[in-house]
Formats: sequence, C-alpha cells, structure tokens
Amino acid sequence: MIKNNKFLSISVVVGLVVVAVLVVAYRSLTTHALIEQEERANTNIVYVLANMVLPQVDNLLDHEESLSSVDLDRIGRLVNEAVQNTSIVKVKIINLSGIVLYSSDPSQTGESKYLNESFNSAKTGVPASSFSYRKTFDSFRGPIENRNIVSTYIPIRNDATRDIIGVFEIYSDVTGLFRASERIQLQVGGLVVASLFLIYLILFKMARRADKVISRQHLERLANAERVRYQTFHDQLTGLPNRASFIEQLDSMLEQSAFDDASLAVLILDLDQFKLINDSLGHRAGDELLRIATRRLQKQVREHDLLYRLGGDEFAIITERASQPSDAAPLAQRIIEAMREPIDIEGHSIVPTVSVGISVYPGDDIAIEKLVKNADAAMYRAKQAGRNQYCFYSPEMNSQAADRLRLESALQQALGNDEFVLHYQPRVDAQNRAIVGMEALLRWQPPGQELVPPGQFIPILEDRDLIVDVGEWVLRTATRQVRDWLDRGLDPRRVSVNVSSRQFRKENFIDIVHAAIEDAGIPADYLELELTESLLLDHSSSAIEIMQNLKAIGVKLSIDDFGTGYSSLGYLKRLPIDFLKIDRGFISEVTSSEKDAAIVNTITTLAAELRIGVVAEGVETEDQWRLLQRKHCQELQGFYFSRPVAAKQVESLLAHPRLASGL
Ligand code: C2E
Ligand code: MG
Ligand code: MG
Repeated sequence: MIKNNKFLSISVVVGLVVVAVLVVAYRSLTTHALIEQEERANTNIVYVLANMVLPQVDNLLDHEESLSSVDLDRIGRLVNEAVQNTSIVKVKIINLSGIVLYSSDPSQTGESKYLNESFNSAKTGVPASSFSYRKTFDSFRGPIENRNIVSTYIPIRNDATRDIIGVFEIYSDVTGLFRASERIQLQVGGLVVASLFLIYLILFKMARRADKVISRQHLERLANAERVRYQTFHDQLTGLPNRASFIEQLDSMLEQSAFDDASLAVLILDLDQFKLINDSLGHRAGDELLRIATRRLQKQVREHDLLYRLGGDEFAIITERASQPSDAAPLAQRIIEAMREPIDIEGHSIVPTVSVGISVYPGDDIAIEKLVKNADAAMYRAKQAGRNQYCFYSPEMNSQAADRLRLESALQQALGNDEFVLHYQPRVDAQNRAIVGMEALLRWQPPGQELVPPGQFIPILEDRDLIVDVGEWVLRTATRQVRDWLDRGLDPRRVSVNVSSRQFRKENFIDIVHAAIEDAGIPADYLELELTESLLLDHSSSAIEIMQNLKAIGVKLSIDDFGTGYSSLGYLKRLPIDFLKIDRGFISEVTSSEKDAAIVNTITTLAAELRIGVVAEGVETEDQWRLLQRKHCQELQGFYFSRPVAAKQVESLLAHPRLASGL
C-alpha cells in the first residue's frame, strides 16, 4: 500500500515534468518555425526592396559616410511604399563596414554594426534572425507597444558577380502570429495535460484495484497462515492448545526456568473410564464429556497455569512457581473435586472422574521427555490405585512402567499357556451365614512368579481385547467346576462369574453362556452373571434384550459394584436382574459413616420394592455384618466370612457350609 502511494506520487511528478518538458520543447520549436518563416518572408521582401532602392542612389552600398538627406528621403519614401501593408516595422541598410547607411528610425542612421554577430553572419552569406519581445518599439508608423519582433540580417549580392555587397536589417512585427501560436501551444499543452491526466487516472485506478487485490490476498494469506498455525497448535474439539504446543511451550519454559533458577510442575490428567463412555454412549457423548471436562479444568487453573489437551481423554497442565512438589497438590485436588460433579449426558447421569500424575522441575528430571514420561507414570499409578486421585512421581515408577510392558507381552501368551486360575469366594446368607454361592475370581499364575490379582491385569486384558477369550475361559472353567463339585456330592448352590462389558457386547455372548451351561451339564440357575453398571449406560434396548435372553435361558443376573457407576436408581426397574451387589466402598465405613449407612439404606429399600436381592461386598467385621443384617441385606460376601480361595479349599468349605469368621 505504502509502496503504491509512493509509486503514484512519483508518477505524478514524472507526468508533470514530462508536460513541462513538452511545453518548453513545443514552444521553442514553434518560435523557431516562426523565425524561419519570417526570415524567408523578409528575404523575399528585401530582394524586392533592394531592387527598388539600390538603383536610386549610385553605389549606395559603397558609401562609407552618411547619405545626403535627399537620398535618405528618397529611400525613405521607397521603403515606406514597399513595406506598406506588411508586417515590417523597421528597415536598415548597412554597408560591409557595418555602418548603418539608412534606418527607418532616423536616429539610428550612422550607427555601427561592425561587431554585431548577426551582421557578421549575414556578411558571410548566412542570414541571421532573432526573436525578441519589446515593450515599446519605434516603427515606421511611430512607437508601438508590447510587440514580438523578429529581426533579420539579410545579405545583398551583386547581380552579376554574386558577391555580397551589403546587408539589410529588417524588423517584422510577429505579435499576431506569435499570439496565435501561443494559443495553439496552450491548446496542445491542454490536450497533452488532459491526456496525461486521463492516462494517470486509468493507471491510478488500475493501481488502486491491483492494490486492493494484493492487500486482500495478503490478508487472506495472513489469515490462512494464522488458521494453519492455530490448527497446528490447537485441538479442534475443545479449542485448547494441543500436544505440539505443550511440547513447544514446556521446552521454552524449561529453558527459562533453568535460566531463572525457577521451578515448575507438569500435571498429566486422564479422565477415568472415558473409553467405556465413548464405547457405550457413542462418540457424541464422549465429545460432550470432553468439552465439559475442559470447562471444569479451565475454571480451576490459575492465571499462570497452562492447560492443554494432549489427545483422547488426556490433558496436561504446566504450572509455574511450583517451588516444591506439594505446591501442585492443591490444584490437583481442586481439579479432582470439581470434576466429579455429576453431569447429564444423553439422559445418563454420569460422574466423571480424573486421575492426575505430577512431576516437578527441578527435581524429577530436567529433560522434557523424562518430565512428561514421569508425570505419565505417576498418572498411571493414580489409575492403578483406584482412579479419581493424584499421585506424585517417584523414581521407582519408571521400573513399574517397564514392568507393565513386560506384563502386557506375557499376558498375550497367558491363556495359551494355561496360566490363569480361578479362586472362589463364598457368598453367605446374612441371617445364618450359610453358603449361598461362590464368586469365581480370576488370578494369573505366571510360571515361577507370585499369583497376580485381577486388578493388575484385567484392565490390560480389556485394553487389548483379550478379555473376551479369557472371559469365555472363566465361564467354561467355573461351570465345569460346578459340575465337578456336584459330581462329588458338594453343592455350591450357585457360581457367579464377572462379565466385562466388552464380553457382554459380543454378538455371540448368549450362545457362549448357553454352550458353557450345556457342556458342563449344570442347571442354568447355578450360574449367575455379574454385570457392571457401565453396561447399563447403554440405554439401547439391546442391552436389556440380551439380559432378557439370558434370563430366558435361566441364568441369574446381578449388578456388581453397585453405587460406583453411572446408573440411575430409577432405571433399575426396567432391568431383569436378581441381585444388586453393593460396592465394597460403601461397606468399609458403613458402621462409622452416616452417609454410607444412608446409601446402603436407600439401596436396600429400593431393592426391596423392586423385589431385587441385595448382596453386600467386602464385609470384614462382625459389626458390619450385624448392621447389614439389620438393614435387610440378604446376602453377604467378604473376608469376614472367607477370602477367595483355590477350588481345592472350597471343598472343605462346602463340607461345612455355615461359615464362621474367616478372617
Ligand atoms: P469384584 O467382582 O467386585 O470382586 C470382589 C473383589 O473384592 C475381589 O477382588 C475380592 O477379593 C475382593 N474382596 C472380597 N471381600 C473383600 C473384603 O472383605 N475386603 C477387601 N478388601 N476385599 C474384598 P479381586 O479378586 O482382586 O477382584 C477384583 C476385581 O477384578 C473384581 O471385583 C472384578 O471386577 C474383577 N474380576 C475378577 N475376576 C474377573 C473375571 O473373571 N472377569 C472379569 N471381567 N473381571 C474379574
Ligand atoms: Mg464381582
Ligand atoms: Mg464387586
């Protein structure tokens, strides 16, 4: 834009200079033409004049002194006659010595032109003319004013010898011609200026248009570049800066912190069970949850905290001024609390929770990758420890992360290598402690190592989709075990098997259950399937349909870990279930926490109304047992009665089906 303005100013100046040069050149050319034309006209007149005057005075041009007044008068008359009705206003006759022998202005007679350049030019045969403006001029006809005069020195030759014998000086008045030429000059000049102005105007318009196009393109380019930059560094769903900008920013902040000797903390946040919600409620619900989570995080972060979405359900915060690890803890705590406010997504009440891992600089590591990896390891630890909490990085976590990798690859082979075993935990009648069933609980026995509890490997099986095959193995093993006990005259009454939601969702799940019962040859109601609340997230009729089909086969159904998930109590009445298993979390403090006691109360009251049985899990003390008995829990399960035990030990339990404290 600035460049264009400059260009236009320059073109205006150049245009004006061109006009000025043209005007000056045109003026000088027309004046020159005027002089030439006048010179030619004067020469013709002079020849006529010379022919008239020279014969009148003998050897006129040979005179070296003044002529007699008689001669002068005669010449004067002749000259007057000759120049009548012409533009000639003065005539001088000069001899070769430069003496003015005659002048129509008598006062100039006798003057010397000896040194006059034009005279000397004419003397050599070249006529010379000059143009001048005279304010007053003494002409034949008296003084005249404001005149443009052309004076011409014309050589006179001897007719016979062609030698130059004298010079005539003729003044002609060209004022009329000059003014006419000036008028033409003005008109031509005007035309030139108008044309130039028009060209300039067109150029100006074109330049303006080009300028507009260029500046629009420039703005578009800038906007595009900005858009690309924004997309490169931001997450589209939440509008938060993304992983790329997290890495970039953390890198520069680490550099700055090293320079300032300052500190910072990296928090890696991962929404709990997000995959489950995404899988069962669909991506739209998942996106909505991510947006809500983002808003909650944004509310909690302070001015100097930077929030990012790293991808999926993973977020990160860089917080400055965390001079020691514990400085980041209040922030993590606030986030955890703010996150678990229940929300309603597509008709489901969901309690989102988040696990947070924290690493601190300087301290945990100085390399950016390590700092992030450490926070990741800490986050994973928070998940393992039961989710919905934060955890600071500690050096041993790295070896745990490596352990997890080893675990993952070993698990791939575990089923083929027959490394899984089932333990059984009895379920008792709350009134008389008689065994009413067994829960089959999976364990992993890697060769030469300790027995691994399911909490450590089931999430991995679920991640890797191995849970479907392992789940089928559990079903078959548990049902065969029942057959085996029955064959030996022992009655376990019922065996309950945990079913993961991935397994439940498989098309052939009902067939698998059916085949397991058939192959084992046990009554269908000897099998109970423990479903998780997350299954119920799926409002589609298919989940209920599958449950109804399972019921039609004759198996029992229960909801495991009831109270921790997302199901609404009102929804229960639509489900064809036999038992609710109240989660251990509500039982552990049921004797001391009024809140937990109230929750248990509500569940038992509601279940009674819906004619659903209630099982309390995790009963560890006699007080808990007594209280749950009073609260009308029909069945109980927990270390107080028996820990989960190997199949072999179950036999001795079944031999004495009324369990005393097993603790
Ligand atoms: P769950 O189905 O709720 O199983 C009960 C868990 O509570 C068992 O842990 C059991 O040992 C523990 N427990 C029982 N009574 C007490 C008590 O009084 N105090 C305490 N502190 N704990 C008690 P376990 O065996 O570690 O199983 C953990 C979870 O792993 C199970 O929770 C279940 O969700 C899952 N799981 C176990 N086996 C399978 C399986 O075959 N398939 C699937 N999909 N999940 C399984
Ligand atoms: Mg269970
Ligand atoms: Mg449970």
